Amino acid sequence: MNNPKIEKLVKDLLIELGEDPKREGLQKTPHRVAKMYTELTKGYKTSRKATINGALFSQNVDNMVILKNIELYSLCEHHLLPFFGKCHVGYIAKDKIVGISKIARVVERFARRLQVQERLTQEIAAELQDALKPQGVGVVIEAQHLCMMMRGVEKQNSVMVTSAVLGNFRSDLATREEFLTIINKH
Ligand code: ZN
Repeated sequence: MNNPKIEKLVKDLLIELGEDPKREGLQKTPHRVAKMYTELTKGYKTSRKATINGALFSQNVDNMVILKNIELYSLCEHHLLPFFGKCHVGYIAKDKIVGISKIARVVERFARRLQVQERLTQEIAAELQDALKPQGVGVVIEAQHLCMMMRGVEKQNSVMVTSAVLGNFRSDLATREEFLTIINKH
């Protein structure tokens, strides 16, 4: 999947930065960067159908299902720099459950875009709410942002935490606490 337009832009960027795109180490950089950005933003091209629909099962259970420590890599839309960390997802089914690996796919689908962490958290929660129609869903993301660590205020150790809770994760304090207790247990 070559993208000559992005390659051209990266080459121009190198020149504007004062570099020589013809020197050995940089000759293939436009090609590599174009490929990389295509991969890091592939979430735009995936659909719910491809991510989740084939793996929904009817089941009458009402215990909490949690998938925690899902590795997360995304790109901040303000600086095009990575933010990365962990995502924790929980839900309580109503009549549908989903194959557990698909939850990680949903995270991936929304992380592989230009994002802000707040919206990413919301989008994952809303997608699961929509697809599963569960009693409730909770999503917590803990991430470090390179745009904060290597530029600007240079805060190397700060971790940003965002959460989105819907349904009974929002309305029922005990449910929300159960979720938070489990994801905080090491
Ligand atoms: Zn940023």
